[in-house]
Formats: sequence, C-alpha cells, structure tokens
Amino acid sequence: SKTQVGFIGLGNMGKPMAKNLLKHGYPVIATDVFPESCKELQELGAQIVDNPAEVADQADRVVTMLPSSPNVIEVYTGPNGILKKVKKGSLLIDSSTIDPAVSKEMAVAAEKMGAVFMDAPVSGGVGAASSGKLTFMVGGVEEEFTAAQELLTCMGANVVYCGAVGTGQAAKICNNMLLAIGMIGTSETMNLGIRLGLDPKLLAKILNMSSGRCWSSDTYNPVPGVMEGVPSGNNYQGGFGTQLMAKDLGLAQTTATNTKTPVPLGSLAHQIYRMMCARGYSGKDFSSVFQFLREDEEN
Ligand code: NAD
Repeated sequence: SKTQVGFIGLGNMGKPMAKNLLKHGYPVIATDVFPESCKELQELGAQIVDNPAEVADQADRVVTMLPSSPNVIEVYTGPNGILKKVKKGSLLIDSSTIDPAVSKEMAVAAEKMGAVFMDAPVSGGVGAASSGKLTFMVGGVEEEFTAAQELLTCMGANVVYCGAVGTGQAAKICNNMLLAIGMIGTSETMNLGIRLGLDPKLLAKILNMSSGRCWSSDTYNPVPGVMEGVPSGNNYQGGFGTQLMAKDLGLAQTTATNTKTPVPLGSLAHQIYRMMCARGYSGKDFSSVFQFLREDEEN
C-alpha cells in the first residue's frame, strides 16, 4: 500500500490538490494555520496535525501550497517548520509561486538536513486543481524528477522538468507577466472598440480570427457578457485574485532587477495591478482590470 504524503497549505488550490492525492489512494497527513480549512479534508480521511514539523516527522514526501515567499520561509525554516523534524532522504515539493531566490535558499537548507527540495509552481486555476489538470513547472535535481512526477501526475495533466532549482518559478513568473500584459492589452482594446461603437461580442469574434487573438481575448475575455463560465460573467468573483497577480508581477520585477533585464510593460502592468489593489480590487479576479479602466465612465 502507498505511504503517507504530507500536505501543507489547504487553501483555494491546496485543498483540491490534496483531495486528488487521496483519490489516488495516498494517505494524506496535512496542516494549515486556519483550522477551518482542514475540516473537509479530515472528513475525507486525512490525518490533521498541528504544524509542519509534525507533518515532516511522519511523512517523507511533503507538498506545500502557500501564498507567498514569507509563508514558505516560515513553513520550512520556522520554529515549527518542516526542517526541524525532516527525515533524511525526504522529498519536499513546493508548489507555491514565490521568489526563485527563496526556492534556492530552501533547497540549500533542505540539503543540509539530508533532504531534497524542488520547486513545482502550477498553472491553471482552482478548476484545474479540482479536476487534476494543473500544469507543474518543476525545478531541482534531475535524478529526483521521477519521484516528484509520481505525486504530481495525481494532481496535474502536465509535469514539465525545467532545470535546476528555481527554474520552475522562473517559468511560472514569465508566464504570469505575459498573462498580465495580455489581459491589460485585451481590456484596453475592448474598451476602445466599445467606445468606437463596436458590439463587444463582435469585436471579440474579430480579434479571435485576427492577429490580436490571445488567451485573454479567446478563453478568458474580461468584458461581461462576451463569454460564459468566466469571472467577467460573474462580477469578477472566483478565478485568480488581483492581489496574487500583483504579487507575481512583483516577483517578475525583482528577478528582472537582479538580472538587469528591461521589462517596461511588466513594470507598468505591476503598477496597474498595485493601483487596483489600493482601490478595492484585491479579491476580484485579475480580469477586472477592464472594469478598472472604465471606472470614470461608469460614474
Ligand atoms: P490561499 O491563500 O487560498 O491558500 C494558502 C493557504 O496556506 C491558506 O489556507 C493559508 O491558511 C495557508 N497558510 C499560510 N501560511 C501558513 C503556515 N505558516 N502554515 C500552514 N498553512 C499556512 O492561496 P491559493 O489561491 O491556494 O494559492 C496558493 C499559491 O498558488 C500562491 O502562491 C498562488 O500565487 C499560486 N497559484 C494560485 C492560483 C489560483 O488560481 N488561485 C493559480 C496558480 C497558482
């Protein structure tokens, strides 16, 4: 029978991911700082413990899914962190989107304890997490990739090896920077077309058969009423929060600064998402930038 897998961080993404491990027959031992978020998993048969150290004390494979870099540092190296009790030879997989420099630090700290750390951030939202269709971008020692893959394929449709530790984060950060730029571009384009008298559905149709087509125009259109089953059709609820996008754009800026890479549009996108956070959009899906651009008009 399969041995226990540890899971830390049972939020919007972590909970459905842990459920998929259970579904594949892995006993799960889990923890979260909010006891509330552990309830459902406990009812499904997972063992719930008080802190990350206790998880690592019992499981030699642990997945973490936390909001941002400080949470990851705390969960790995804090007083009740994984590394306090980690067993030699353990595999630690972090699927949070964080600073690649922090992933590298965690890998060094884990190695000192005889454990292996890999970064494996994901693409695909809560829907993909629930249906086990996430894409994992994995960085770390190549010899450990097969072991990581065994667990990650229970939660994702694509598991891609990127290179040394931190390169999974690099791929994720690049993708989200382009996604943000594309979403803002789609939003301002749609708004201009509407003000020029075009029907938004017709304009989207034309863009999607022309060279302006992108994921934000054809799969996740930000204009209410153009598509069904996307956050723009549901008052921008659910989906991928503006605050998380602002965080990812901040990570892109940090890595660009460290490597002296010009990213002018990424920088502007970061500022736009920051302004949105300051104006009450934090919890809305990031496609609400369309609404933000139209604020003055609607008043
Ligand atoms: P979330 O805030 O819903 O969940 C994070 C969970 O971690 C929470 O339940 C929180 O209580 C827990 N946590 C925080 N600190 C902890 C600690 N010290 N010990 C134990 N638990 C702790 O966030 P999410 O939407 O699940 O996202 C997680 C990560 O995945 C983020 O880095 C995000 O950028 C990334 N991501 C999210 C999406 C999405 O669509 N939501 C998509 C791709 C990637």
